[in-house]
Amino acid sequence: MCLLCGLTPSKEPQRLRRREFIAGAVAAAVTPSLAHAETNGSTPKPQNAISPDAALARLLEGNQRFLEDGEKRQDFGAEREALLRGQNPFAAVLSCADSRLAPAYIFDSELGDLFNIRIAGNFAAPEVIASFEYAVLKLNTPLLMVLGHEKCGAVEAALQTARTGERLPGHLPLLAEAIAPALADVHVARPEDELATVINHNIQINVATLRAASPILDHAVASKKIRVVGGLYRLESGRVDILYP
Ligand SMILES: [Zn+2]
Repeated sequence: MCLLCGLTPSKEPQRLRRREFIAGAVAAAVTPSLAHAETNGSTPKPQNAISPDAALARLLEGNQRFLEDGEKRQDFGAEREALLRGQNPFAAVLSCADSRLAPAYIFDSELGDLFNIRIAGNFAAPEVIASFEYAVLKLNTPLLMVLGHEKCGAVEAALQTARTGERLPGHLPLLAEAIAPALADVHVARPEDELATVINHNIQINVATLRAASPILDHAVASKKIRVVGGLYRLESGRVDILYP
């Protein structure tokens, strides 16, 4: 058990937390303050109140500027002032905590544009789903993205654990357990392709998890209020490829 937080890294606390989360999510769906916010959301950046398709196009245009070293000049003072009364980001991005991947840079975005959720291995834990729900309900964000990357150390650790049966120290088993579903049904001709295949499968699984997350995200997807896509960041080129549109 961790002496700081009292958490025992086993499956049971996660199961309990998931049950608590489900109850909380249902409550959030009918919470008056959130429902009120949904219909009266602040739009300090009118240019961000766009369709899911337009939001994806805008992200990819930003990535193209990043590739061409043509980033827009930032006026942080004006941006901070415009955002004093709220935020309406046009995309919510779940990305790995890896320091080589910085969503604000790689999409050449401004303050108030991206709702960033970061966790090693970019998986949709209950708290991550809740964060996306907040972005959709409260901030009217039209596009959700799961953004993995090449050579992901968290995915590699999960693979290594599965191969060797070695127990990781501390809380690290929580990461390996969360990524473990991506290891199932992965068949590759060459061992050197295994990591890349699992990284892609992990993105695919978490896109599906978000699209099916009831009772909020699944309804928003069905009504076309939002779109959930999966992308892969390429470390060498800086390009984001949309693998799961
Ligand atoms: Zn990573």
